[in-house]
Amino acid sequence: MSGFATLSQLVQVLLAQPVNLSASALAQWGSGIQTDTRKLKPGEVFVALRGEKFDGHTFIPTAMAIGALVAIVDFEYDNPGFPVLRVKDTLKAYQQIAGWWRQRLQIPVIGVTGSVGKTTTKELIAAVLATQGRVHKTYGNFNNEIGVPKTLLGISAEHDFAVIEMAMRGRGQIAELTQITQPTIGLITNVGTAHIELLGSEEAIAEAKCELLAEMPADSVAILNHDNPLLMATAAKVWTGKVLTYGFSGGDIQGVLIDNETVEVAGIPIPLPLPGRHNATNFLAALAVAQVLEIDWSCLQAGVMVNMPTGRSQRFALANDVLILDETYNAAPEAMLAALHLLADTPGKRKIAVLGAMKELGERSPQLHQRVGETVRKLNLDGLLVLVDGNDAEAIAKSAVGVPSECFVTHADLLARLKTFVQAGDRLLFKAAHSVGLDRVVNQLRAEF
Ligand code: ATP
Ligand code: MG
Repeated sequence: MSGFATLSQLVQVLLAQPVNLSASALAQWGSGIQTDTRKLKPGEVFVALRGEKFDGHTFIPTAMAIGALVAIVDFEYDNPGFPVLRVKDTLKAYQQIAGWWRQRLQIPVIGVTGSVGKTTTKELIAAVLATQGRVHKTYGNFNNEIGVPKTLLGISAEHDFAVIEMAMRGRGQIAELTQITQPTIGLITNVGTAHIELLGSEEAIAEAKCELLAEMPADSVAILNHDNPLLMATAAKVWTGKVLTYGFSGGDIQGVLIDNETVEVAGIPIPLPLPGRHNATNFLAALAVAQVLEIDWSCLQAGVMVNMPTGRSQRFALANDVLILDETYNAAPEAMLAALHLLADTPGKRKIAVLGAMKELGERSPQLHQRVGETVRKLNLDGLLVLVDGNDAEAIAKSAVGVPSECFVTHADLLARLKTFVQAGDRLLFKAAHSVGLDRVVNQLRAEF
């Protein structure tokens, strides 16, 4: 194939108005499509997106200098003679092209959403499918209205499977992403309290996640977490098609956690690619995908390898048998609790939680921070260091009654204390909302310890 689309195909798909393009120019093939001139190659199509910080239309001369075949622009752009396709909304156009591209593919497309564990589950599914063929998957966390089309447009003829992470910040967004993605399998990891500030209640969050089911093709298969009753109940209201469930409480793929490293399913012990009960749940989801695609699990008994993106399920060994569990990428309340359990279950001398605030929790925030502190106490951790950013983080330390706790206001103070605090054999969990910046403390500690 000489490219992904001819310009006249794009005109048809977008109902676009071509400007400065002859009939022969319209017959040309675009070799690819880009929204960022830093990645653009000669012969590709450039889409000018208007964002909060940047307006892609200002980069059109750069795109043309690089050798873009055409720019897709909106009607506000007053074209100074470049070959362009004019549309009403360039983001919509980008999504339409991605949807058109996806419709031409015959491979299984797995859409993954949920409150927590999307990226982890996506990586685990991709690792399982990689035993069978070539997998295209969402890069990093490119899971929104720009990232999903970008991911879909990255699928090529050589791929056998695609795994697409879909995220939302409000109602209607998963529906939109699902219409573009048209998943053949739709998987919802769970429903929790992440982003509750925006949606108001767990029920509303469940409904928003289940837009995935409502919008996917009727002959697709839904894969659902049996351990999450609200998800199961909400899904049943919108989806009457095929369902496969997984979990520890029951379901089609029911797991028994043997230890932190092994899960047993239907009498078969399978090594966990990532440790901990929550990751075992995520792995059961990947096994469910394998089941739908009729992949024999025997190939998984030797273990599959997963390379997680930064800040999730990362482990760093420091000198003197000190181990860092780096979960600094984000901190939804459920993720916080899961990570604390993982710390408690990790063999080692002292178990220390280094925590910071969780964000976007609205009026539930104080109560949810308190719950984190109570869990620290319940798990009998050996120490708690809290970086206090905003009002609520302190509630973690206050509710961890009986656990030696210290609070810090600056990253520098926390780092300085860690250097004297850490002892041989310690296990240290770092977790907070991304914006708290605990990843910087982890990096400095690794560099200086
Ligand atoms: P984002 O909304 O930022 O894309 P995500 O849904 O992709 O997040 P991950 O990046 O996979 O989630 O995981 C984030 C954190 O959530 C992990 O560091 C881990 O602590 C926790 N986590 C992962 N899976 C689960 C799960 N099944 N249940 C509870 N917590 C989980
Ligand atoms: Mg993610």
